[in-house]
Amino acid sequence: MPSLYVHIPFCQNKCDYCSFFSVPVLTSDLLDGYLHGIKKEIALRQMEAPEGVSSLFLGGGTPTALSAEELNRLLKAIHEQYIFNSKSSMDIEKTTEANPGTFKPEKLDVLRLYGINRISLGAQSFNDNLLKRIGRIHTVEDIGNSIKMIRKSGIKNLNLDLMFGLPGQTLFEWKDTLKKAVTLTPEHLSLYALTVEPGTPLSLRTGFKSENRDYLPDDDLQADMYAWAANFLGEQGYCHYEISNYARPGFECRHNYSTWQGEDYIGLGPGAVSCLCGVRSKNMEDICGYIEKLESGIKPIDITQTEILTVAQRISEYVMLGFRTLDGIDTGLFAVKFGEEFQDIYGQILTDYLKRGILQQENGRIRVDPSYYFILNSIVREFII
Ligand code: SF4
Repeated sequence: MPSLYVHIPFCQNKCDYCSFFSVPVLTSDLLDGYLHGIKKEIALRQMEAPEGVSSLFLGGGTPTALSAEELNRLLKAIHEQYIFNSKSSMDIEKTTEANPGTFKPEKLDVLRLYGINRISLGAQSFNDNLLKRIGRIHTVEDIGNSIKMIRKSGIKNLNLDLMFGLPGQTLFEWKDTLKKAVTLTPEHLSLYALTVEPGTPLSLRTGFKSENRDYLPDDDLQADMYAWAANFLGEQGYCHYEISNYARPGFECRHNYSTWQGEDYIGLGPGAVSCLCGVRSKNMEDICGYIEKLESGIKPIDITQTEILTVAQRISEYVMLGFRTLDGIDTGLFAVKFGEEFQDIYGQILTDYLKRGILQQENGRIRVDPSYYFILNSIVREFII
């Protein structure tokens, strides 16, 4: 069963570092067209999940940039058509991303009505100056107020997104942010290094010179931030189960985990990516174009971004994603999936990395030693076939 991702490409304002596909909510017409479009897209693609979907993730953008009524329309359309099914006896995980600056009790009521049981809150930092410097719309106080609302509603699975390597950020400030975050007892934390993408407002004013107020922490400082966080969160009882993700036992994100395990996923909405039976496709990153295609009864796919994955691509991606997780790669499952032994494909390079202690082999699994996570990209490059 695939998982289901729905992209909501709207935000109240663009953050200064953001290169994700999202636009500021300017007119209700565009939003209305988007909601009509989603309904049509669901109807067109419903047959892709005859046995249902295993989890739901509303991402963006900012899902909570929608009003309570708009969220209700969106969730109603999804729940009218999709069956949510679980292989295990656990509840279906239904997550929404949320921005503390757009969170309201009436929106939370709607989310609860449709069984949303996990909130991923884009906190980013517990320092008001840094939040301002990267153009976030919220304050530290807003984060606290949102968490109070979330807990009051009975939601027991809260993720906080935090970023390090922010312009002008010191190790002391990063430690302070993490310490404040854990006092709020989130079940899950996602920590991302800021990437300054060309063309973003932040890229025009940042630099590496320390006289620049927006200077960027260098690689050594970022590595220190990453290492300190891993150590600190381990002491606080969080398991570092994926390179950027930490969870209390039992609160690992099931939706993302299924993707990292190479399971199929359906992506709805402008710019959303799907991967089904070895075919990866992407919807067009153009809200008006997306609406027009669906009005004509055509799938809003960007054909230039659709590809049938070769076996080599599928193996490389599986290894790349598997190495990001603490569980690593189940070599038995690998052989079943691809009809070849992991050892036969990677022979010498595998032996070499095992000898150097960069990879570890245990109970039929091969994983990267977490102390090498900070250089994971260069390790993975060696395993692309
Ligand atoms: S809230 Fe997220 S998606 Fe929206 S502009 Fe900021 S970083 Fe981008």
